[in-house]
Amino acid sequence: MHEMGIASSILEGVATEMRRRPGCRPLKVGVRIGEMAGIDPESLRFAFDALILDTELQGLGLDVEYRPPRARCRECAREFDVHNFELLCPGCASQNAECISGDELEFAYLEVEDHEPCAAGRKSPE
Ligand SMILES: [Zn+2]
Repeated sequence: MHEMGIASSILEGVATEMRRRPGCRPLKVGVRIGEMAGIDPESLRFAFDALILDTELQGLGLDVEYRPPRARCRECAREFDVHNFELLCPGCASQNAECISGDELEFAYLEVEDHEPCAAGRKSPE
């Protein structure tokens, strides 16, 4: 089950972050997932809840943000969101574009008991 692996990766990220913040209790983890990853939201939540059941993380919230895939135009180098698999550049109307993302899993934030969200392994842009 694909979603079980994703949920497990999310929890590994949480565990890593919590080791850096001893004494804090995680309340909610936010992740961004590319729509192209083909993750079923219900299955992911089910897997997540199943993995934290009867652990110290039981009750941890999961906030998933789905992102449309991104493409880059080969003609004018413009980057844009892809909708309905339409690789049409909004800048020059060229269809000569390539997908540059869409199946990523990225940590957005981790909310801990003191209500201070912190960036958890956030990738810096470029
Ligand atoms: Zn273009």
